[in-house]
Amino acid sequence: MRSFRNKKQEARSKRQEARGKNLSEADIIKKLKRVERAHPAVIRGIGDDCAVLKSLNKNEVLLCTTDLLIEKIDFDFAFTDPYRLGMKSLAVNLSDIAAMGGAPLYYTVSLGFPRELVGDFVGPFYRGLRRVERKFNVALIGGDLSRAPSDVFISITVLGKAQRDKVVYRSGAKPGDLIFVTGTLGGSATGLRLLKEGHRIEDAEGIIHQALRTHLCPVPRVAAGRWLAEHKIASSMIDLSDGLSTDLHHLCEESHVGAQIYADQIPIASATRALEDAPLAAALDGGEDFELLFTVPENNVKRFRQSYPFRKPPTTHIGHVINWREGVQITYGDGRQKKLLPQGYDHFKT
Ligand SMILES: [Mg+2]
Repeated sequence: MRSFRNKKQEARSKRQEARGKNLSEADIIKKLKRVERAHPAVIRGIGDDCAVLKSLNKNEVLLCTTDLLIEKIDFDFAFTDPYRLGMKSLAVNLSDIAAMGGAPLYYTVSLGFPRELVGDFVGPFYRGLRRVERKFNVALIGGDLSRAPSDVFISITVLGKAQRDKVVYRSGAKPGDLIFVTGTLGGSATGLRLLKEGHRIEDAEGIIHQALRTHLCPVPRVAAGRWLAEHKIASSMIDLSDGLSTDLHHLCEESHVGAQIYADQIPIASATRALEDAPLAAALDGGEDFELLFTVPENNVKRFRQSYPFRKPPTTHIGHVINWREGVQITYGDGRQKKLLPQGYDHFKT
């Protein structure tokens, strides 16, 4: 009897293990969401760019986001240096605050690194952080340090604020809304490819320098995100960290809608256009551009176009929101229409 039960248990755990091995990052987050406990101070928990929490000021909410960067997975010292890595580590977190339409306030940094790196890594890394910190007026308020066996680990948490009735979630898109994106796409993927081919930012010029910069030192769209929220222009928003094809799916899933985008209208970075064999694929699936993807109800479009105050980043209309039954579609210049598959970055997808 006992051995029979053990065999059954064994079979079950083997099945679970097999299922576990095939879980994507998105699947794991879905599972975590299912066991998330409701708390009276949590307005929005897992699943958006930031958690949204009640604050002492009733009209304001607190935003919280965190990111983990691991050497050889998320960055490589063959391509970047501690100073630029410091800049990027904070910038990618600020991008999540931007995606909610918030203003960043404070941040913590936790680092793990081997003892040998104390001298070469820590100083320039914090100088990189402080450069971005000054630009966006955020304050370092703490963190933790640990010795790591061989690689560098970086975890940053940023707190920000937004007006309670103006926070922009991933979940607010409605059929009929127009879809926009800031800046250009694909530059970061092209930059990474150029780095792998041996290009270095110190010696690069023109569009190659631009692409390397996009990858190594992305600029979070904090002012644009805040403006879109404060003027109640956007109905939903997400930042493009995994790639347009994947992040559009995230937004559609949270809003329970579908999307129709036009290949011809995607603003592709000039380096990507010039140097990639498949520039559209790089723009759709490349990731790490840290631009904002947002939806605007038709009623707001005129006001948005007339009053958007920034020269940089420009915004481009790339499609519109449709019913969820229709899924996420892309239409090419010749009229061909295809399902747009989420082919951007996922840490655990095989
Ligand atoms: Mg994000």
